Amino acid sequence: MIVRTEKPNIRGFSKDQLKAFFVEKGEKAFRADQVYQWVWQKSAASFQEMTNISKELRTFLEQHFEIHKIKIASSQRSKDGTIKVAFELHDGKLVEGVLIPAGDRMTACISSQVGCSLDCKFCATARLKMMRNLTPDEIYDQVVAINKLAIDTYGIPLTNIVYMGMGEPLLNYKNVMTSIQMITSPEGLGMSPRRITLSTSGIAKMIRKMGDDQVKFNLALSLHVANNEKRTRLMSINQSNPLEELADALKYFYEKTGTRVTYEYIIFRDFNDEIQDARELAEFCKHIPCKVNIIEYNPIDDGFFQQASKQKTDAFIRFLESKGIIVNVRRSRGKDIDAACGQLANKVVQQA
Ligand code: SAH
Repeated sequence: MIVRTEKPNIRGFSKDQLKAFFVEKGEKAFRADQVYQWVWQKSAASFQEMTNISKELRTFLEQHFEIHKIKIASSQRSKDGTIKVAFELHDGKLVEGVLIPAGDRMTACISSQVGCSLDCKFCATARLKMMRNLTPDEIYDQVVAINKLAIDTYGIPLTNIVYMGMGEPLLNYKNVMTSIQMITSPEGLGMSPRRITLSTSGIAKMIRKMGDDQVKFNLALSLHVANNEKRTRLMSINQSNPLEELADALKYFYEKTGTRVTYEYIIFRDFNDEIQDARELAEFCKHIPCKVNIIEYNPIDDGFFQQASKQKTDAFIRFLESKGIIVNVRRSRGKDIDAACGQLANKVVQQA
């Protein structure tokens, strides 16, 4: 009989858990610090690299643990410099991440789940079924890999990280929070939480939880339309998390964190591009200090939605600005390689 023994991923253990394990095995607790540093800060791929610990201990660890690391399966570079990467996970599953260069600003857009359980009508990732949550190390590794790509390609390290790739980060709350903790910790990448933005489709309960946890990173809400009937048509998550509940949760979040929230608004032709829509959005903006990111729609294959005209978009923005709202326009990047918002769907792999 073949007994298949799967060794646990050492990166799934906290430092305290590792310490307890080491002490129980008769090793000094500080060895755990060293190993922890190797698997996170130094991104070691094997125990044999851990040159400051004895050969015996390295072999012992090899017998008990694996080190999961993600691999770059393929990458594509857009005309505008955006680079999309397909990452292969230890179980062969794939997720995508994107490097978006803009002058001195280097942004990594990373995934939090393999596939997505939501069914937002305009998003390509929604066409994939939800397969599983990413672990903290799988999320962290995307940042490490994209940072390396930024340095190798453009000579500039990452300046910003957005959780806007595949998946709904608030439905993988614990792992996403641990990944952010490691990205911001001096024991990990030591990045400032102010440079991180988590984007959510709007899960009221978890927005409150972020308030309770007094998170220090930025929050973006994929609002897209400030009218319940229309929003439910776009995003069925709005049925269980209607605008009134989101507004209450956002007020709570703001009270606890003092952080201004960004509302993302994809402007669709003949759906949410009228002044009446802008008026409803301006009303919603009264709840808490916020700003609005107008996002150009990136068509996905079905042709159901279309981009709003420039004229309508300009009038929409002018109206918001006349109400004193801060508005940014996010032009899409990497469209030619399906790397833009909502286009991440493992196309390369599906076609293969
Ligand atoms: N699930 C999270 C994060 C992933 S989506 C969320 O919903 O926020 C990241 C951003 O891309 C969201 O604002 C989303 O609404 C937007 N997006 C999705 N599909 C898009 C498309 N086809 N064109 C432009 N933006 C899109």
